[in-house]
Amino acid sequence: MQTSPFDLSGKVAIVTGGNGGIGLGMARGLAEAGAAVAVVGRNEAKSIAAVAELQQRGAKAVSVVADVTDKAAVAVMVERVRRELGRVDILVNNAGINIRKPPHALSLEEWESVMKTNLTSAFLCSQAVHPAMKEAGHGKIINIGSMMSIFGAGFAPAYAASKGGIVQFTRSCAVAWAADNIQVNAVLPGWIDTDLTKRARVEIDGLHERVLARTPAARWGAIADFAGIAVFLSSPASDFVTGTAIPVDGGYSIMG
Ligand code: NDP
Repeated sequence: MQTSPFDLSGKVAIVTGGNGGIGLGMARGLAEAGAAVAVVGRNEAKSIAAVAELQQRGAKAVSVVADVTDKAAVAVMVERVRRELGRVDILVNNAGINIRKPPHALSLEEWESVMKTNLTSAFLCSQAVHPAMKEAGHGKIINIGSMMSIFGAGFAPAYAASKGGIVQFTRSCAVAWAADNIQVNAVLPGWIDTDLTKRARVEIDGLHERVLARTPAARWGAIADFAGIAVFLSSPASDFVTGTAIPVDGGYSIMG
């Protein structure tokens, strides 16, 4: 019998921010497709709950507590995954935060905190897994951008800069590591119902309705919408796909 091009049996995935929101939606997809998953986050209780859920689905899963902005912690995290799960085939750079302020009100500390969490962390984690992927002769890296990888936003200058940067970082790694058979792609979520956007919906007057009005699919995204793209970009089905930035947005980005 031929194996499915979407089969991830025997593969090991690291999902940063895999303990909730979009990261958990992706972790569930990867686990369903057969991958073992390392859930990385700072909140151990949340990570342990996510791991228990993935294990209930029949997957091998471990929680690794790490702050992905910390180079030393990232090195220890990757080492632990290699020791406990044996290899690293897939990295999802999903951890992210936003601080909603216009550029004139944002402090340097706030700017750096967003840039470090959303962009520098992807650099640190990608660099840390590269030796294992190169040695194995293959690898898949998925970086999470945003609609703000494409559009500007007056209330999110650091966030938009970090998410624009992640697309160019994705393209650069895709070129640099093509010879190592490592495919690097970005996913650009539209407006998704998670902890990150719950506050925005309350704080930004009319946001909920504006998103609905602009989204052809006429709904907010759900974390389950990210299982399929995670599996596709992690599997042999995408072996000739690299350096792309794929919107998963219900059509938000194609509305004029
Ligand atoms: P959540 O707030 O639900 O999840 C964010 C995750 O990031 C948490 O699991 C958190 O875990 C983790 N995290 C944050 N900082 C760190 C850190 N320093 N080290 C390790 N883990 C960290 O948000 P979403 O699921 O909505 O967002 C996930 C990604 O998707 C982000 O990159 C976000 O920018 C992006 N995105 C989201 C959109 C949306 O509409 N929701 C739209 C476009 C993009 P812990 O607290 O345990 O550290």
